Amino acid sequence: MKVAFFGAEGKVGRAVVPVLEGAGHDVRGFEIGDEIDVRGLDAAVDFTSPDAAPANVRAALEQGVSCVVGTTGWEPQALHDLAVEQGVRLFVAANFSIGAVLMMRFARQASAYFPRAEIIELHNEAKKDAPSGTARMTAGLMGGDPVIHSVRLPGLVAHQEVIFGGEGELLTIRHDTTARESFAPGVLLALEKLGSLPPGLTMGLDHLL
Ligand code: NAP
Repeated sequence: MKVAFFGAEGKVGRAVVPVLEGAGHDVRGFEIGDEIDVRGLDAAVDFTSPDAAPANVRAALEQGVSCVVGTTGWEPQALHDLAVEQGVRLFVAANFSIGAVLMMRFARQASAYFPRAEIIELHNEAKKDAPSGTARMTAGLMGGDPVIHSVRLPGLVAHQEVIFGGEGELLTIRHDTTARESFAPGVLLALEKLGSLPPGLTMGLDHLL
């Protein structure tokens, strides 16, 4: 596929773009200030920032190009109607790593059996939004509005613990992302399945697994 990549020079972009190219995709990188002309491309991927993603995605959808978005900390629901009008897909996932999706699935299962839980999410200090999109999604799946603690420190990549407390026992479910290449298989899967999704917004890698 011919793919636009917003944020190609970012931390995620630098890890994921070579994997997409290795899988045979023709990737065109876009940085801040580039004119957003993606007409004729098959899809656009966005890993930028909560400030930049809405305008990038809106421009791509207006040009009839489906989008795969990993940027967190913004509200994609507002672009659902535009994507439907244009007959294109908007796929957004707060986490493209398979292990993180399983962590969320197991947390949802465990929440049915424990009265209390709290979430600790730990990310690199450069991350702009807190709590993370993954933590908010996990909380939503668990119901009950668990408290979320956010840690931002150098040396971290992306980590999350969900701690369940019951009478005389604790259960901890933990996922660690140690390298950003872990997001590439999820992005490849989303590009592969994009055409089979209904027009409009689809959220969560779980829908594609
Ligand atoms: P990053 O290192 O700050 O990279 C973002 C890149 O986007 C930078 O190169 C930035 O340029 C560029 N950019 C900013 N505005 C832009 C615009 N208008 N058009 C094109 N490019 C623009 O951040 P990151 O760690 O790669 O993360 C990017 C986003 O993905 C964050 O929201 C993060 O939370 C999210 N994320 C999601 C997942 C997931 O699995 N869903 C995984 C990891 C990260 P400058 O450096 O010049 O500002």
